Amino acid sequence: MPTWAPHSWTNAEARQLPIYPDAAALTDATKRLASFPPLVFAGEARNLTADLAKVAEGKAFLLQGGDCAESFAEFHPNNIRDTFRVILQMAVVLTFASKLPVVKVGRMAGQFAKPRSANTETIDGVELPSYRGDNVNDIGFTPESRVPDPERMIRAYAQSAATLNLLRAFAQGGYANLHQVHRWTHDFMGRSPWATKYAETADRIGEALDFMEACGISPDTVPQLSQTTFYTSHEALLLPFEEALTRQDSLTGDWYDTSAHFLWIGDRTRFEGSAHVEFLRGIGNPIGVKCGPSLDPDALLRMLDTLNPQRVPGRMTLITRYGYDQIETHLPKLVRAVTRAGHPVVWSCDPMHGNTVKATSGYKTRPFDRILSEVRGFFAVHRAEGTHAGGIHAEMTGQNVTECTGGAIDVTEQSLADRYHTHCDPRLNAGQSLELAFLLAEMLNT
Ligand code: PEP
Ligand code: MN
Repeated sequence: MPTWAPHSWTNAEARQLPIYPDAAALTDATKRLASFPPLVFAGEARNLTADLAKVAEGKAFLLQGGDCAESFAEFHPNNIRDTFRVILQMAVVLTFASKLPVVKVGRMAGQFAKPRSANTETIDGVELPSYRGDNVNDIGFTPESRVPDPERMIRAYAQSAATLNLLRAFAQGGYANLHQVHRWTHDFMGRSPWATKYAETADRIGEALDFMEACGISPDTVPQLSQTTFYTSHEALLLPFEEALTRQDSLTGDWYDTSAHFLWIGDRTRFEGSAHVEFLRGIGNPIGVKCGPSLDPDALLRMLDTLNPQRVPGRMTLITRYGYDQIETHLPKLVRAVTRAGHPVVWSCDPMHGNTVKATSGYKTRPFDRILSEVRGFFAVHRAEGTHAGGIHAEMTGQNVTECTGGAIDVTEQSLADRYHTHCDPRLNAGQSLELAFLLAEMLNT
């Protein structure tokens, strides 16, 4: 294998990267980024690898979720809090039912850059470059908005730092204390039958805590009850940004991408010879690969040999995203190949990206029943193959949005227009996320 350096990706084929009109401005921005403090510390990334190694063994479950695309416009403490607390609620439901620890990873504090299926977008006969995420260009449909601006990376860094700061405070400062389990419910979820079911789980947890407290074990003395560990992740798409945040760990001498704990390669950039694969092979963080219908098992094995030659357990997470009607045809081939080759991986299910449809009203949406159906298919395949259904990767928000159709409080095609706020793909709202957690709990229990 040729030697690796943080910039060695520049010699490989890079798809989905913006072309900055002002090369000097790009160099200036990345130089400044390279001098900024890391967002995460290498030791934390190693802890996540160790946690994911437990997931690979079937001794923990991975819950990864958040926005499709974070945005400058939706940067608000309430949004961060609401997504964080829905993830906590889901984790509680999963832990309570399965008795497995849940590894919580947000698509948060850095999930800005978006791969696009087309380079341009045409509205009413006007063709403009596609929106590529707030750290690249602006979503507004004007020629000026769509020009890639490297200063946006600086703003994305600042927003990520502030978001991560609040997440760390919530995780460690008392918000995640299990005694607060009832308070994590959102008011708008009152009508959902799943909110009632959640309240019952919360009551039982409360009783267990009271019992433990009477025995002398209180959250004040046991940090596992009063705090939680929350990791961050995003697609490592915008390589000039990722390179600038890549630092050598003083303890081990290894390179880490300090923009997040976990980075993944998207389905569009995981091809052989890709600059994104070249970049990620050299960093010590745990990494994910999105696996869609076009991924051939042999190509996957070659990629695993490139990305994880030492076969470190917990380093690789394979995030499958086939669509509800394709998962049972495609997934067994990959599972068999990886198992036969003896690569330790976490299998995680992204039931979102293979189930996107256009509603008659024109909105991009995802029917909730198809999302659940892909999750069921994922569990069925792993059960049949004797492997572990290790995790879920969802696009979701704590807000009461109307972006995916269906769910207990039915979002209809007509109501999509009510609160359709996403900057990219449709997300599960808080009620749908909780409903998904109960389905997962059931699957994990059988
Ligand atoms: C995403 O996770 O937002 C995404 C673009 O996914 P994929 O690479 O699987 O298409
Ligand atoms: Mn998406």
